[in-house]
Amino acid sequence: MSVTGLCQICERETASHTCPGCGAVVCDDHWDGERRLCADCAAGANA
Ligand SMILES: [Zn+2]
Ligand SMILES: [Zn+2]
Repeated sequence: MSVTGLCQICERETASHTCPGCGAVVCDDHWDGERRLCADCAAGANA
């Protein structure tokens, strides 16, 4: 399995991170470097 591909959130940028929460590959724009989660999981973990 390759981890390279497009960001699963915006599907435009090249993904460079894999979210440990949901397994999505995401680009820098959709990666939360502080929480080390994708934007979706970071938003959900904010509660
Ligand atoms: Zn993205
Ligand atoms: Zn995630």
